[in-house]
Amino acid sequence: MSSTGADRLLRFVDESPTPFHVVATAAEELDGAGFTRLHERDEWSLGPGSHYVVRGGSLVAWRSSGRPTAGFRIVGGHTDSPNLRLKQHHDIRRDDDPAVIALEPYGGPILSSWFDRDLGIAGRVALRDGTDRLVRVDDAVLRVPHLAIHLDRAATDQDVDPQRHLNAIWNLTSHHELLPWLADGEGLSADHIVGFELMAFDVQGSARTGPSGEFISAPRLDNQVTCFSGLEALIRSAADEVQPVLALFDHEEVGSTSERGAQSDLLTTTIERIVHASGGGRDEFHRAIASSWCASGDMAHATHPNHREKHEPLHPITLGGGPVLKVNQNLRYASEAMGSAVFARACEQAGVPLQRYVHRADLPCGSTIGPFTAARTGIGTVDVGAPQLAMHSCREFMAAADVDLYSRALAAFLAPA
Ligand SMILES: [Zn+2]
Repeated sequence: MSSTGADRLLRFVDESPTPFHVVATAAEELDGAGFTRLHERDEWSLGPGSHYVVRGGSLVAWRSSGRPTAGFRIVGGHTDSPNLRLKQHHDIRRDDDPAVIALEPYGGPILSSWFDRDLGIAGRVALRDGTDRLVRVDDAVLRVPHLAIHLDRAATDQDVDPQRHLNAIWNLTSHHELLPWLADGEGLSADHIVGFELMAFDVQGSARTGPSGEFISAPRLDNQVTCFSGLEALIRSAADEVQPVLALFDHEEVGSTSERGAQSDLLTTTIERIVHASGGGRDEFHRAIASSWCASGDMAHATHPNHREKHEPLHPITLGGGPVLKVNQNLRYASEAMGSAVFARACEQAGVPLQRYVHRADLPCGSTIGPFTAARTGIGTVDVGAPQLAMHSCREFMAAADVDLYSRALAAFLAPA
């Protein structure tokens, strides 16, 4: 069983412990593929070509044909994953205890999955000179130990208190505070660091598992699989009748409301500037929008063999069964008939099977960037994804075969025949 896309995905995930690292990993790939980075502060005078912009943990990349009314085909995704993050004041010391670091949940992680794992620290620090820098400690310097079962016979996972129970043991000497230690490792002094977004991550590498390597065990599959597959699709694409775009947003797991989330102006502003740089005005911008489609990619729930009763029985989703179209009548997903047809035709073009997901009517349905992107841009949007299990666990699970199937479907979506 071989799936080279799956193996490239493992490297992508391991290189990308935080949204900022996802963007850096993607930028490096784009640079290598001949894309040029633009800065939002600069004037853009472009002809046809391949470019990208970065806004914190978000990135938009595209290939432009230079035709101002040409529509866009957009693959959207999110760069963030639920995790545990450092509080501003995080050094806890009590007599006789080991030094402890105060962490708090970001988004909706399965809290119990963060116990008893070897955790590193990564993120970005903002420096006194106005710049920022990525930081990453791959050593297992933090640990959130479970309470022994003998000390709490009645405990269940629901009993995890996010305020009290998720702090990580840090060291035995209490000589080190975390930020000065981190700064030292970076060749900085602690007073250089005047802001930070730092988070714990599991240092165990992603792996192929199962008797034939048919599975992937990895952190952050939600939603780095879309970041990875969308990136591969964009790099293989060409600007033609439609202009392919990859839009990766931070902050999906906390509602997308930020300067760089899917509710921000990042995508519309970028598209408008591409149209302007191609010689178009306001009218051409609206015409291009009206000719565009967006596939909002996020992971989908495969049917769990131990919990079949949690799934809609008419819509089983199989691991290894190919990409998933997600439909919700209350628009937790943006998919409607015309967009669904566009994605179904992309799967046909790619020779890839398509699965259709509907959430049980008696369970509240999660959401993603699709409805926000549709409402913010006015672009017809379809919510799609790749199947996985253990969504929002510190360690997630999917079939290796789905990586290539998903990449091929997204590539066909970006380049309709
Ligand atoms: Zn997601």
